[in-house]
Amino acid sequence: MKSALNASLINDPFGDPGLIVNFLFQKRALLFDLGDISALSNAELLKVSHVFVSHTHIDHFIGFDRLLRAVFGREKTLTLFGPENFIKNVEGKLAGFTWNLVDRYEESLTIDVVEVKEEKLIKSSFRAIDKFQQTGKKEVSFPNGVLLEDSSLVVRAAILEHRVPCLGFSLEEKLHVNINKGRLETMQAVEGPWLNDLKQLVLEGKPDDHSFDVPCRRDGKSVIEQFTLGQLKEDLVDISPGQKIGYIVDTVYNEPNKKRIIDLIRSSDIFFCESPFLADEEARGKERCHLTSHQAGTLAREAGVKQLNIFHFSRKHMPHRERFYNEAELAFKGTTGTLVSKS
Ligand SMILES: [Zn+2]
Ligand SMILES: [Zn+2]
Repeated sequence: MKSALNASLINDPFGDPGLIVNFLFQKRALLFDLGDISALSNAELLKVSHVFVSHTHIDHFIGFDRLLRAVFGREKTLTLFGPENFIKNVEGKLAGFTWNLVDRYEESLTIDVVEVKEEKLIKSSFRAIDKFQQTGKKEVSFPNGVLLEDSSLVVRAAILEHRVPCLGFSLEEKLHVNINKGRLETMQAVEGPWLNDLKQLVLEGKPDDHSFDVPCRRDGKSVIEQFTLGQLKEDLVDISPGQKIGYIVDTVYNEPNKKRIIDLIRSSDIFFCESPFLADEEARGKERCHLTSHQAGTLAREAGVKQLNIFHFSRKHMPHRERFYNEAELAFKGTTGTLVSKS
């Protein structure tokens, strides 16, 4: 597995939940949840392009103001995703400030907000230049749970039960397609924009018998030769899978929910899973709509993830940090995966 992404928890597992995903080769980051983000610097917050908010309980959304403070006054578009009622939540946050001086700023922040419902996405925009009045509300379809797709990744969501709808997320990097320069020379092929077209066709999954024109030098002359995509994939292209990251917080352990979680996070390289309660607190977990350590480990095992990283521990259990890890590992064990332990 090759990855251009680095995912890490923002806080200690007893602190507010949240994940930052940094792009190693771009000035870009993604955030999952917006709880206490005071550990992140302004420079880190300025790199954030998209924020995925599971739900708006205070420990997952209190950091909105801190993020807004860091990006306000910048020419930037920030896109926030959240569950039912999310547009109202963001509107309410923005309405809590006085914006009469925004016309003094030359740069204008735009906040695009996407509310995730079972069958559709509702999109709205709030621009600083309009004093953050809501504009451009529209509905779009929500095929296969895909929230965001670009050339390098796909982010999907599932709507989970937490008395209120709560979103679970998976982030999947697309294949890494690299051209082997040594083999390019052996083929006497000439570098050019065709290499990007070739990468694109591989990413799109075009069939191997698709034919492709390749500019080559033969005896000092420029010629165009035809190859099949299958030949080029074999001779010229190195393909390696990207990383898959799962993020699940604040949800109850029952059969329909479990199925939704496992379908979403299946085969993740890293699975970040909440574990507020200890294994012997199942009844309490059910009542509060949260998972136990053992349930987090079971979900990880059944979804075939490679590494489990538990967090969002109840502060009531401060002295029992290791118990969370041990219990989750017991349930996860029996696979080749490893549990990340933070001491
Ligand atoms: Zn909650
Ligand atoms: Zn929470």
